[in-house]
Amino acid sequence: MLYAQVVLPLAQPMYSFSLDESLAVEVGDAVVVQFGSSRYCTGIVWSLTTERPEYPRIKPILKRLYSTPLVTAEAQRLWEWIAEYYMCTIGEVMRVALPALAKPSATTLTELDERSIEPPTETFIALTEELRTEESLEAYVNKHSRKAPRRTATMERIAALAAERGGMDRFVPRRLVDVETQHIAELKRRALIELREAPIEATHDKNDFLLPTLSAAQQHALEAIDCGHAAGKVALLHGVTGSGKTEIYIHLIARTLAEGRDVLVLVPEIVITSQLVERLERIFEGRTTTYHSRLTPLRRGETFLRLASSTGGELIVGVRSAIFLPMRRPGLIVVDEEHDANYKQVDPTPRYNARDMAVVMSRIYGANVVLGSATPSLESLANAMSGKYAYVELKERWGEAILPEIIVSDTIRAVKRNERKTHFNLELLQNINRSLSAGEQAILFQNRRGYAPYIQCRTCGYSPRCPHCNVTLTRHKASDRMECHYCGYNMPTPKMCPNCEVQDMALMGFGTEKVAEEIARLIPEARIERLDGDTSTSERAFKRIVTRFDSGEADILVGTQILTKGFDFGGVTTVGILNADNLLTMPDFRASERAFQLMMQVAGRAGRRNDRGRVVIQTSQPKHPVIRFVATGDYHAMANSELAERQAFGYPPYSHLIRLLMRHEDYNLLHHAAHALAGAMRKKFGVRVMGPVSAALEMLRGEHRAEILLKIEAGASMKRARTLLREAIAAVEGDAKYKTVKISIDVDAL
Ligand code: ADP
Ligand code: ZN
Repeated sequence: MLYAQVVLPLAQPMYSFSLDESLAVEVGDAVVVQFGSSRYCTGIVWSLTTERPEYPRIKPILKRLYSTPLVTAEAQRLWEWIAEYYMCTIGEVMRVALPALAKPSATTLTELDERSIEPPTETFIALTEELRTEESLEAYVNKHSRKAPRRTATMERIAALAAERGGMDRFVPRRLVDVETQHIAELKRRALIELREAPIEATHDKNDFLLPTLSAAQQHALEAIDCGHAAGKVALLHGVTGSGKTEIYIHLIARTLAEGRDVLVLVPEIVITSQLVERLERIFEGRTTTYHSRLTPLRRGETFLRLASSTGGELIVGVRSAIFLPMRRPGLIVVDEEHDANYKQVDPTPRYNARDMAVVMSRIYGANVVLGSATPSLESLANAMSGKYAYVELKERWGEAILPEIIVSDTIRAVKRNERKTHFNLELLQNINRSLSAGEQAILFQNRRGYAPYIQCRTCGYSPRCPHCNVTLTRHKASDRMECHYCGYNMPTPKMCPNCEVQDMALMGFGTEKVAEEIARLIPEARIERLDGDTSTSERAFKRIVTRFDSGEADILVGTQILTKGFDFGGVTTVGILNADNLLTMPDFRASERAFQLMMQVAGRAGRRNDRGRVVIQTSQPKHPVIRFVATGDYHAMANSELAERQAFGYPPYSHLIRLLMRHEDYNLLHHAAHALAGAMRKKFGVRVMGPVSAALEMLRGEHRAEILLKIEAGASMKRARTLLREAIAAVEGDAKYKTVKISIDVDAL
């Protein structure tokens, strides 16, 4: 008898099951087991042993799912790494790693079967057995070619395709035989061919791609990346916006695919997958597989299963969760816009950073990794400076394009001089007009996070807040309601102040909606599109807006953070940043780095073809160092100044931050528990512990939230820190009083 350690998608350790050898189950296979008395679920076989575990009752593995294992030995090591580093169970990793439909569960076995999916299949054809030799086929063709030339031609085509694949007995995908269904049906009726359904086989034989010619600077960068990879290093490609990083990726991708190895290209956000996929598809026709959360559950499940049975040579473009897709022969992982905070999973656990996981995967799989950005994260820069990563810089834009002119426009001065209309300085309006009259386009950026339109009573200062989340409600004009951006709670916009009962409620702050409305009034002839969370609810809606702007059917695009994500619009010559102040004042030690990144990325949308672009930054603090760094485009000056501050205060990259979030409905109980935990931690970590404090978001869905921060200096053992932290948490969790307090751990919190 064999025994298996099986991972179940739970926050619990592994369970042992017995394994009947006739099931032919191996490590990495998905299997069905009974868990509890009335639950059947999917588990992954983690290891096998002949030794009987010391449990009185061991249940059997009921059956195996799928014909290929879902988790390779390398993926097992990745999952283990994540569980250890981010302090969760392997079951919790499984929960995020496998798409829902690939791990069915149900209350009965029949129900589970109904919920199971199979890898997607397609029809394959082979000649009937008697005709699978040269001689027999030739005899047949000679006999029939005069009377039925089409039929014999098709059969010769099938034979040729089969021979290309290694022999006349090979089955070839039906889609490669370019004839109509009736014709195939007739061959089948005459018993000349055999048909069968089998998992879709991606055609990966074509490897002579037509690649863009690289500029000298790009070629140089490519060689430097190769050099770094040859030395076993991750390459950090720091290329200004419009320098053609994508073209360099394309060369690396082509080479990797030609070797029959897999490529994973990570992007921070769904919305840029489509633009990038289109660009890659033009070169790698039919090769790309997309993966993100907007795909239907069925698509995600089938994609996962198809890749699990692939033999390599796949090109996958996806968001952070794509790091969990099965890859048989990973050769290259590209992390585009590597500085982007979206690579970090916020909830649920494991709170992994896909960029950092790509680096771990390079060690596990021996794959090459490229991290690309116009504004690298200070963490990656520090790794490059220390020599851990190969640092490759591309300082020029590709072709004739030059970097835009940056104009800092003082809002206070504009008001004094009567040069401000609503939220626009005259300077910005003039530049927009200049672009439009030259037949060019403009982009207007308004940061929404933390600066949404809210209403406030001008008499008593009251503004409506969410009763569940304690955050200001945002006004939505279309519905005329106030809405909570965390939980969705909403109420009608009050006309009278609910607090002092005076009718003096005024709209404060402004969002993209307001900007679009104002610019429409100021420049009535302009055609305006808006791109933000409200207008791009579906991928279709999003694409429609992007296409309209890209094809010149709109003149001005107003948008939020979405605009910063690597768009390549040719006609834009003016970019306006409406309010830089709220970027600079975010309560976060990364505020300066983030503000710089955001402004540089938005600015990067200007003048990407021939005409020099202009970026107008409106701010009341024109002398702020970050504004100066943006104005001069001086990334290294920003980095040096920031790194000095981070070092002085012991922030990343000079430390690792672990954030503990504690939640409970009872405020007092929560804070007692938080003080108990902070106390237990101080005994072990001393001054490295900060807090507890109320979380930035004090209340969410009826629960109070408190936070404790732990700073572990770079160079200290994280493994030891985790052990000590686990002990401190266990002590508090072991106290009956605090049993109901929820504690979650965020390692390398952003
Ligand atoms: P980045 O990602 O670095 O901001 P892109 O890769 O989007 O820059 O390139 C900017 C523009 O320049 C794109 O329109 C791209 O097609 C063009 N481009 C860059 N390099 C080349 C090249 N070698 N051949 C042709 N076009 C290029
Ligand atoms: Zn709420």
